[in-house]
Amino acid sequence: MSIIVQKYGGTSIGTIEKISSVAEKIIKEKNNGNKVVVVVSAMSGETNKLLDLAKSIDPDVSGRELDVLVSTGEQVTISLLALTLNNKGHKAISLTGSQAGITTDSAFNKARIESIDNTSIKKYLEEGNVVIVAGFQGVTNSGDITTLGRGGSDTSAVAISVALDAKECQIFTDVDGVYTTDPRISDGAKKIDDITTEEMLELSSQGSKVLQPRAVEFAGKYDVGIRVLSSFKDGSGTLIKKENDDKMEKAIISGIAFNKDEAQLTIRGVPDQPGIASLILGPIADHNIDVDMIVQNVGEDGLANFTFTVPRNDYKVAFQSLEKSSKKLNANKVTGNNKIVKISMVGVGMRTHAGIASKMFSVLAENKINISMISTSEIKISVVTDEENLKTAVNVLHKAFNLDQPH
Ligand code: ADP
Ligand code: ASP
Ligand code: MG
Repeated sequence: MSIIVQKYGGTSIGTIEKISSVAEKIIKEKNNGNKVVVVVSAMSGETNKLLDLAKSIDPDVSGRELDVLVSTGEQVTISLLALTLNNKGHKAISLTGSQAGITTDSAFNKARIESIDNTSIKKYLEEGNVVIVAGFQGVTNSGDITTLGRGGSDTSAVAISVALDAKECQIFTDVDGVYTTDPRISDGAKKIDDITTEEMLELSSQGSKVLQPRAVEFAGKYDVGIRVLSSFKDGSGTLIKKENDDKMEKAIISGIAFNKDEAQLTIRGVPDQPGIASLILGPIADHNIDVDMIVQNVGEDGLANFTFTVPRNDYKVAFQSLEKSSKKLNANKVTGNNKIVKISMVGVGMRTHAGIASKMFSVLAENKINISMISTSEIKISVVTDEENLKTAVNVLHKAFNLDQPH
């Protein structure tokens, strides 16, 4: 008997009817002779509702109490699904993260799973239950509830797959696989049959929210196959795996991701001398703000312009901090733009093909899309542009790199 881990996202269990059809899928898997562990998210929209409630008390809310609140969304769905399965005549038991043995560090709101004690999951499986575990949550060694960051149920599912040595980790969602870009932005987006964990990690880190980056990281580290599947229609979905067989090597570009959660800040006319970057970025780091892309332009008369991006939520604080630094450094001025988007093309084939970046830039230029920042890695090129260019930019790049053709 193999163990199969299935994860159902918010839209898949957004109503009692949908929970009932998810239960049917689970029963089918059980009738195939497998032991089934199910990880669920909260019903769609519920986590946002809980967050909004907390934000109505404190707009900058974070920490322990927030996790006590937002983890409740998943506690609703584990119970509803267990009740539904029971009602259909099948043994099922719901477990919170803590009851399932998921221990995390104590970084509230963005905790990392440290270990999973699989004893209770295994015991309930042996007794013939479908075991339903609340995604997105865990518990610290001292008993505090934690959550794993938005989209964290994906990570719960992969981690449980590792802990149980499961045959496969199936992620059921509202799309039937990973596409060449978000199908919501491009009608030409094509489903990818299989993709390396390395490429998927870049895509999800650069904004493809179909999987949480940490889930992919986990899968790569422990060599677990993830399959992304539709909750609503049959199909083979997308397999994300470590090996890079011949077929997988063919794609030069696998996909295009975008991230609308960043903002850009520029400090102009700073002295072009050693140590300046740390004087500018030090105070930003002191506010616990992560800086992503950084560009320094060498200006005239020994002065330079320094531009970087931060998470959009941190824009206000970062701007204020930069204005303070500006006074200290006698800089000319601070400007910012929180209506930007970062667009990234990802593909392992970039390692062996030159000219991808220049083609990307010329396609954007031909379409009058101005680029304000660029960064590259071995298998990724990212550009920053105004948010209003998003749809056009993704679509022209998608076409220019033949991602809309069957592959
Ligand atoms: P769930 O609630 O099931 O976790 P998510 O909303 O987190 O679902 O993820 C699924 C969504 O991810 C899709 O509806 C789609 O709009 C979005 N998405 C972004 N990039 C991609 C991509 N490259 N392929 C497929 N879906 C993508
Ligand atoms: N419910 C959580 C969220 O909305 C976790 C998840 O859906 O994976 O982020
Ligand atoms: Mg998700």
